[in-house]
Amino acid sequence: MPELPEVEVVRAGLAPAVTGARVAAVQVLDPRALKRHLPTAGDDGLGGHGVTLTAAAGAARSADFERRVAGITLGAPERRGKFLWIPTSAAAVSGEPLALLAHLGMSGQMLLRAHDADDDRHVRIRMWIEHPDHGELRVDFADQRLFGSLALDALRPAADGPDLVPTQAAHIARDPLDPAFDDARFLALLRTRASGVKKLLLDQTLVSGVGNIYADEVLWRARLHPETRGVRVGPRKAVELLTALRAVFAQALAEGGTSFDAQYVNVNGQAGYFAHSLNAYGRTGAPCARCGEPIRRLVIGGRSSHFCPRCQRRR
Ligand SMILES: [Zn+2]
Repeated sequence: MPELPEVEVVRAGLAPAVTGARVAAVQVLDPRALKRHLPTAGDDGLGGHGVTLTAAAGAARSADFERRVAGITLGAPERRGKFLWIPTSAAAVSGEPLALLAHLGMSGQMLLRAHDADDDRHVRIRMWIEHPDHGELRVDFADQRLFGSLALDALRPAADGPDLVPTQAAHIARDPLDPAFDDARFLALLRTRASGVKKLLLDQTLVSGVGNIYADEVLWRARLHPETRGVRVGPRKAVELLTALRAVFAQALAEGGTSFDAQYVNVNGQAGYFAHSLNAYGRTGAPCARCGEPIRRLVIGGRSSHFCPRCQRRR
């Protein structure tokens, strides 16, 4: 499952190829990959999550997406948490600029390919693009499990800054690598919550981009038990936690992203396996790299947490 570093790797990989490119043609192979795209009215921000499409609705949605995306010019891709979007030259009926929004879900991939390359597995949408410097290329959206999707969505000014965000990503907090991330707000909110810190790290309204893998790594690094309540985290410890969060993301980015999902492949088709650098996640029974105590696994809210019972004492 992609987390912030994986999505950032995809964004950075796509940027040189799509920025300034024109979409020559679009082909939707599976309308289920458009579940967040609403035909024509889709730019009103109502969303379309979890919609079960009839065959007729699926065909209409595919036709709408193909018609409206073909011919547009793409800008520089941006990201917030696990949302990735490409501003476009098109505008909504409201006059707001439209973005091509990708949510990678559990297994979504944005694959950059030669314009006549053979299909990868599970390709749902193909876009042929023409770049003034790089010529003809193809961007394929592949997704085995279909939790991800592409959509056209309106860009609006963010509630917490001057930049524009797609309406569907407006509820997502900034991530800690965003230069406009508000450290003071995060630290203050964290320390008012009664929930455990693991749950708080996964709360996308508090901080975005953190999934199960990096949450475990961050807590190990900051020596915090996953069930320690936010209100029990002291001011210094909270700063340590935020520092750990940035350090873990920076390390993962330097290594090209980490994923335990065999389906995760970056834009160049290179699998993202960097398991050797993880200290907690998935290491149940293995010795803690700091103290040698076996890493323990705990199920919290249906999710596995991995932690060192000696370094990460419950407070
Ligand atoms: Zn330890």
